Amino acid sequence: MPFDALGLLPQLTRALAERGYTEPTPIQRRVIPEILAGRDILAGAQTGTGKTAGFTLPILQHLHAGPTTNDPRALILVPTRELAAQVADSIKSYGKYLRLRTLVVFGGVSINPQLEALRRGTDILVATPGRLLDIAQQRGVDLTKVEVFVLDEADRMLDMGFIADIRRVIKLLPPRRQNLMFSATYSDDIRRLAQTLLHDPAEIEVARRNAAVETVDQRVYAVAKDQKRALLSHLIREGNWNQVLIFTRTKHGANRLTKQLQQDGVEAAAIHGNKSQSARTQALAAFKQGKIRALVATEVASRGLDIKELPHVVNYELPNVPEDYVHRIGRTGRAGASGHAISLVAPEEAGLLKDVEKLLRRPIPEAPLPSFKPARPPLPREQVGQTDAVPRARDVRRESQPPSRNRREAPRHRHASSRSPDRGRDAPRRPSHSSAGATHRSGRRSQKRRGRPH
Ligand code: AMP
Repeated sequence: MPFDALGLLPQLTRALAERGYTEPTPIQRRVIPEILAGRDILAGAQTGTGKTAGFTLPILQHLHAGPTTNDPRALILVPTRELAAQVADSIKSYGKYLRLRTLVVFGGVSINPQLEALRRGTDILVATPGRLLDIAQQRGVDLTKVEVFVLDEADRMLDMGFIADIRRVIKLLPPRRQNLMFSATYSDDIRRLAQTLLHDPAEIEVARRNAAVETVDQRVYAVAKDQKRALLSHLIREGNWNQVLIFTRTKHGANRLTKQLQQDGVEAAAIHGNKSQSARTQALAAFKQGKIRALVATEVASRGLDIKELPHVVNYELPNVPEDYVHRIGRTGRAGASGHAISLVAPEEAGLLKDVEKLLRRPIPEAPLPSFKPARPPLPREQVGQTDAVPRARDVRRESQPPSRNRREAPRHRHASSRSPDRGRDAPRRPSHSSAGATHRSGRRSQKRRGRPH
């Protein structure tokens, strides 16, 4: 189905054709006609589904038809600076043949140029909540002419504690308006917010929660924590990965890993909340241009990063919240392109892996560990029963585990050969000498903490 079958203006379809988009994605097919018809929307869609164009195109069309004012007629609220910049870029690109103005405002940079630009007027305003409220407090923007209000990545906004800010922003809007809410997941909080915000919404769920995940080749490497970095450097170098996004759980961890990768000869940069806006922008640009191979990011910093057809995503640590796994690997295999996502899972992350697999409703296949140079000198060969010149990874794992206590605890072994699709995960394991010392994946289910450090 071509784009013009959705009733889009030729100025828009021309811009789309120039970007090389031949047909709408499923979310676009569903939401564009509803938005053009003026309905409120509650859409379950992750980044990577094409949702941005899904709301941007009909908004541009709607605004084009109406009279211009100096004040914004569409407000798009997003959780992060990067996403704000990307959404604004998309609008400018799709709207290049329409005479509509777009402005983007977010924190971390000086407010004055933003106030000045607002004084000159805009049709569309893309904003993060905090900065928008600061501007509104200084009477830098009048939101009473807003006809369309978009809450993008609403679940992430709530996770980031923006609920009060969102409610404050809504109070500044006129009562009659069209509301579009996008969220990758539906918690009770999201439902409650939807109930207060939306009027008779069209509820659109393009596909199951893990649909983006289906185009991505996912693998788990069972590896001890202290061997992760050596394995990762090995994979990047041997696989000749030129563009890899790596997730760590903490900012500190991102910095440390970035340094270590650099020491291993892999050009890397970190992107997280402690970095200045210009450092983040620079790192992202260098990554996109291929000047650095590895971008090490925390969860929040990574949201909305629009890096096309990103070939490799690495979970250096599994996230505490299983949904974040889906968000993370949604960075690859975007809009139909295939991608590759690997997770380095240490024994103590077994519970987190189980949670992710529960969410996906399927196990993630395990990749055999390649021979790689361990981070620390190996034990003498006799002690680990090795014949390889370089110790094999499972022995490295064993070596790096604390003595006996862990071994006694060692619950179920995770080993690729003991799993087959027709056997459930709880099927008895085939006794295999090769599984000795393999990383366990259950047992300690002590990871109760569901916090979101970043
Ligand atoms: P989003 O989910 O909005 O972040 O979009 C994911 C990616 O898909 C972005 O890089 C878009 O530029 C791209 N995209 C959006 N719509 C289409 C389409 N109809 N065909 C191909 N790519 C698209």
